[in-house]
Amino acid sequence: MAEYSMTIGGEAAATEATFAVLDPATGEVFAEAPECSRVQLAAAMESAAKAYRDWKVDEEARRDCLRRMAGVVMGSIEELGSLLTSEQGKPLADAYGEVFGAGMWLQYYADLERPREIIQDDTEAFVEVVRRPLGVVAAITPWNFPLVLAFWKIAPALLAGNTLVLKPSPFTPLSTLRVAEMLREVLPAGVLNVVSGGDELGAWMTDHPVPRKVSFTGSIETGKKVALAAAPDLKRLTLELGGNDPAVVLDDVDAQSVANGIFGGAFTNNGQVCSAIKRVYVPEGIYDDLVEALAERAKAVKVGPGTDPDSKLGPINNAPQFERVKELVADALANGARAVAGGGPMERPGYFFEPTILADLSDGTRIVDEEQFGPALPVIAYRDLDDALERANATHFGLSGSVWGADEERAADVAGRLECGTAWVNTHVSLAPNQPFGGFKWSGLGVENGPWGLAGFTEIQVVHRSRSGTGLNPVTSTVVS
Ligand code: NAD
Repeated sequence: MAEYSMTIGGEAAATEATFAVLDPATGEVFAEAPECSRVQLAAAMESAAKAYRDWKVDEEARRDCLRRMAGVVMGSIEELGSLLTSEQGKPLADAYGEVFGAGMWLQYYADLERPREIIQDDTEAFVEVVRRPLGVVAAITPWNFPLVLAFWKIAPALLAGNTLVLKPSPFTPLSTLRVAEMLREVLPAGVLNVVSGGDELGAWMTDHPVPRKVSFTGSIETGKKVALAAAPDLKRLTLELGGNDPAVVLDDVDAQSVANGIFGGAFTNNGQVCSAIKRVYVPEGIYDDLVEALAERAKAVKVGPGTDPDSKLGPINNAPQFERVKELVADALANGARAVAGGGPMERPGYFFEPTILADLSDGTRIVDEEQFGPALPVIAYRDLDDALERANATHFGLSGSVWGADEERAADVAGRLECGTAWVNTHVSLAPNQPFGGFKWSGLGVENGPWGLAGFTEIQVVHRSRSGTGLNPVTSTVVS
């Protein structure tokens, strides 16, 4: 069995305890991951705080490091990708794509210009708005895209001058541990610490006095706990949380022309995407055609182990998530929904679930109202567009959404009425390093990516140089006679 170590202070940190990591394609344990103790977490925080003193000083050196990190990641696509497939379940091609994405994010931030923000430059004063780093960042990630989502945090946090202690999900710790092992050779000790353990370790991190910021990606339920834990210390927060994205189809499309896009937006990564399509609203006139077109694709898609080059979808990542998808689909069927494709688990080892299209159901059914985060898609008929939009927005979720129409302008107008952080037109889950990503309502707080995401890893400092020669200004001059 391969060995994996945590990275603390630039070195391997051995642990007394370990925990099992399962291959979701078999349900069998294939590796052990180190279980971080409280003492080791304290050491990681201390080493990040110590490293911060030098790391924050030289932006060019940081950019250089980010470029070298990108080189290491891009040079390890096969090794990291196959490890990712083993622990996450996704097909190898998708895993390679995810590692490539991690490298892209590093390259993007290595080169992102940070223009000076001078707001006054005259005889009275020179006033500049400067972005200062925060200090140590506690970063916590989920199991659906363990690597790329880690680098959505690592790249901007490091460019801004912060140092990190990062914890991956206990379901998918290995690729993150391994990439940190690789990066020891390019990063100064303590700049990036990676620890692994269960949910309790996440809670210790958010309670810890050292981090000045918590950057969290995960469920709404846990996000609220993180916000509560951060409050007494006023730690800065970015929360990227769950979604229940609607796709609203307009009446000027034909079913076949949108079926591929909607199927891809719903089933990519086996539906385990925060911003996947999780419910589709379709005009009555094309409802049967679109349901049929989606069902055809669901029946045709090849599901199998991620290591099989023919597999397009892998298993669900873990047993609790598998049980949840099973429960939500069974609940829908018990309440009158029709499974036009799939409808239950596949009869084989591991957490495989049939790609499922559910018809003849509406809002008020759990799988429509809640986040299923798996390969099952409810399709809902509507008669009146205003009513459909009202239903699409009648939720605490607000991550993203999409509108599908032949008339792009009209579709864009309708998309603007969705209450969510990203409103796509004729596409879904189209993300890029320069595009800010975040949620309205309970789907998040703050954004990641682009200069906006970078700003989230900084405090604003105003540097105001007086040029009046007296030290007085219109406010203070009134007290001097
Ligand atoms: P989760 O909330 O169960 O766990 C996420 C991380 O938080 C894990 O590392 C976990 O160990 C840790 N954690 C658990 N309890 C904690 C606590 N009390 N304090 C601190 N950390 C704690 O989420 P998950 O099941 O791993 O991921 C799936 C969820 O993540 C879905 O809801 C999905 O929509 C969401 N997600 C959101 C985005 C986004 O960018 N908005 C991206 C991916 C996933």
